[in-house]
Amino acid sequence: MRSTRPTRSFRARVSLADGQLAELREELERQLARLERSMAITDEATKPVELDQAAVGRLSRMDSLQSQGMAKGLKEREAVRLASIVGALRRMDEGRYGICTSCGKEIAFGRLLVFPESATCAACGD
Ligand SMILES: [Zn+2]
Repeated sequence: MRSTRPTRSFRARVSLADGQLAELREELERQLARLERSMAITDEATKPVELDQAAVGRLSRMDSLQSQGMAKGLKEREAVRLASIVGALRRMDEGRYGICTSCGKEIAFGRLLVFPESATCAACGD
């Protein structure tokens, strides 16, 4: 966190209104709940493959390992997403939400509406 604002071409923007912030928090919490449900299902899918006769009969070992590999990839993406949503909620609690963590400028409300978990402005990217 910078202690001084960049003076070069700094453009002041209207801060997020309380109503906008509440709307974004609601959206983040909705996404968090949905993600947690999805992660519970993914968890099931990444459990060790059972190779008893019945399981092998229904699904070849190769198919089984392949779908487990896909579930693992999904699990990793979900973990990244979880971290960004939890991070956004924490920044909200700390009053730092909506400020780009890279350049310190305010993130446009339109961007936050589409990506409420954004930690950076459009110029800095993700
Ligand atoms: Zn930025």
